[in-house]
Amino acid sequence: MLNAEQRYEVIVVGGGVVGASAALAFAQQGLGVGWVASSVQTQTSRRMYSFNLASQAFLQELGVWRDVLAQRAAPYQSIMVWQNVPGQLCFDAKSLGQSCLGYMVDEADVITVLYQALWDHPNVQIWHDKVVSIALPGQVQLASGAHLQGELLVGADGAHSRLREWGGFVCKEQSYEQKAIVATIQHERQHQQQLYQRFLPGGPVALLAMLDPYQSSLVWTLSTKEAECMMVADEQDFNEALTEATQGVLGACSIAHHAGRSPVTARPPKHESIYWGHTLAKDDVDKPVPECFEHGKENSQVLSSSSRHAFPLICRHVHHYHHHNLVLVGDAAHTVHPLAGQGANLGLMDVQALVTAVVQARHRGWPLDDPATLNQWGRDRRADNVKMSGLFTVLNQLFAKEGQGMGVLRQLGMGLLQHLPWVKSAMVRRACGLTHLLF
Ligand SMILES: Cc1cc2nc3c(=O)[nH]c(=O)nc-3n(C[C@H](O)[C@H](O)[C@H](O)COP(=O)(O)OP(=O)(O)OC[C@H]3O[C@@H](n4cnc5c(N)ncnc54)[C@H](O)[C@@H]3O)c2cc1C
Repeated sequence: MLNAEQRYEVIVVGGGVVGASAALAFAQQGLGVGWVASSVQTQTSRRMYSFNLASQAFLQELGVWRDVLAQRAAPYQSIMVWQNVPGQLCFDAKSLGQSCLGYMVDEADVITVLYQALWDHPNVQIWHDKVVSIALPGQVQLASGAHLQGELLVGADGAHSRLREWGGFVCKEQSYEQKAIVATIQHERQHQQQLYQRFLPGGPVALLAMLDPYQSSLVWTLSTKEAECMMVADEQDFNEALTEATQGVLGACSIAHHAGRSPVTARPPKHESIYWGHTLAKDDVDKPVPECFEHGKENSQVLSSSSRHAFPLICRHVHHYHHHNLVLVGDAAHTVHPLAGQGANLGLMDVQALVTAVVQARHRGWPLDDPATLNQWGRDRRADNVKMSGLFTVLNQLFAKEGQGMGVLRQLGMGLLQHLPWVKSAMVRRACGLTHLLF
């Protein structure tokens, strides 16, 4: 059976939020999907996402948002941004007429919920396997020896995408010469569902409100050298440096060792390397899948101490999102600076737009890999992602620039923005995914 070729309308490669949501979205449109995921992150991860309202709406459309919310999603009402004095610039949900600006969610919770929806879906076959080669158009070989053939092949295999490489995509890469340290932090004062971001010359430090009012997820961007020092600093020094960097806006900060998070259970593979969603023995259900963390495993550059993890920050963007019948989505196509917490949000927008375009083409009787459809989709998404990525890069550089009155200019800029509600509102509407175009 492993050597027989399995045919699908769509093959999706990638077990992250982007790949899992793509597989589910295509299946819900009535297409036969083969979903290949070499690892499925279903236990507490080290990655927290700030999901904007567009991502929330997409997951709602997929029918899984209620379950994500029932896990540990934490809504946030406002964002405070500053450089020298806390409170310089604030964005809040009320001024937009929204009940919140977005949600902090654990990557594992979202994947667990998507995974279970995929599991239950009659149009999906799940391959717990790794793609080892492809032959365009549409052939995929798995580590188990299985061969798959798809009319449309979706590469959602992350920042270090092999499909991107095998497909011959040209990808521009530029290091930010920074690393982001992530950790779960506890603080003396309640965050009151507010996110805090202070811009410093080495990069921004952000405290992202979690469900527990005394805990936030830290994303601290530093120059590569500073980050490496902070990774080896003893914990007390780290905590003190963090409290200083955040100007004690939430009181003293320290690394949380008991994040109060129990593992989420998900359904396990029936077979060591391949499983079929509909032939599971009842006894197999609800055993936890072994924890895995693909960044830690596959990216040797990731530094980890027991509770801090550092990610090298690299801006990547492919020139074209489509080649033959292979399309790239999410981090496989682009990685952006995490200062606005938009990476996964952009990936979900790629998926939503792709599924809409392909399904519309199909209704017109066109093939799933219709080049005009895929080209148009790729051009539109690239244009949008280039704007966002460029904006984050400029903001990152602007705050890193020293001297020549830059500090004063930035202060003035933030003060001005605070008093220009329509500009502020346009910015935050874009970040929340409430509108497509900022400029
Ligand atoms: C410090 C930091 C903070 C961030 N914060 C946010 C945030 O707040 N909000 C936000 O929206 N984004 C954020 N991001 C970005 C976000 O993490 C990524 O954009 C998102 O995880 C990308 O998802 P993905 O599914 O495209 O890729 P990944 O999550 O990397 O998933 C790729 C999947 O493909 C699988 N795979 C790889 N190769 C193969 C193969 N050969 N065969 C089969 N499977 C394979 C992997 O196992 C994995 O499951 C942040 C990023 C960083 C670095």
